Amino acid sequence: MSAITTNVKAILAELPPGVELVAAAKTRTAVEVLEAVEAGVPIIGENYVQEAAAVFPAVGRRARWHFIGHLQTNKAGKAVEIFDLVETVDSLGLGRALETRAAAAGRTMEVLIEVNSGREPQKAGVLPDDAEDLVRSLAALPHLRVLGLMTMGPFAGDPEESRPYFRETRRVFEALRRLAVPGVDMRRLSMGMSHSWRVAVEEGANLVRIGTAIFGPRPRS
Ligand SMILES: *Cc1c(COP(=O)(O)O)cnc(C)c1O
Repeated sequence: MSAITTNVKAILAELPPGVELVAAAKTRTAVEVLEAVEAGVPIIGENYVQEAAAVFPAVGRRARWHFIGHLQTNKAGKAVEIFDLVETVDSLGLGRALETRAAAAGRTMEVLIEVNSGREPQKAGVLPDDAEDLVRSLAALPHLRVLGLMTMGPFAGDPEESRPYFRETRRVFEALRRLAVPGVDMRRLSMGMSHSWRVAVEEGANLVRIGTAIFGPRPRS
């Protein structure tokens, strides 16, 4: 077995029931991503529409496709063609761009709201206090379906340092769930990366986005 297959099988064996693995595939080739899918990865996460378009023909609908990067509104049309779900909606403007393109394509786009759980000015995501307003606004768009929240947290370091970010996102998630906004189905919580996914799962994640621990260190660009 190659390293990718071994890594995927080990992670899948350790994930508790109900937690789904997203293979974070930025910089990886179609051959690598296909191998991960054949080893059992159910969802591919891509940060760039163009990279996804290059890998898509090899994998197609054998996996689901999540967009996990920063989506520019002018890429919304292409994103609607490839992705099942966009994890990183953090503005009504982006939501409206997806709504327009999803309506034109005759489909519904699933979305998660990206939360800036550390309230860091340089990071993407809506502030925790603004999540409710955004959810309510997006809920009014008929071709979008809000399914939950996503957060980044620290990129590296002691996984315990990520815990407060995950806990805060979980708190917002539960609060939104209790609001039971019509048309919103709060059930997906995407948190945790290679170094932090075990802590994220302890804090309630049911989607974990893992790159390095599947594919190895990323090539330098
Ligand atoms: C790259 C990336 C990941 C995975 O990071 P690793 O440390 O390689 O596991 C997860 N989420 C997002 C949004 C990413 O860009």
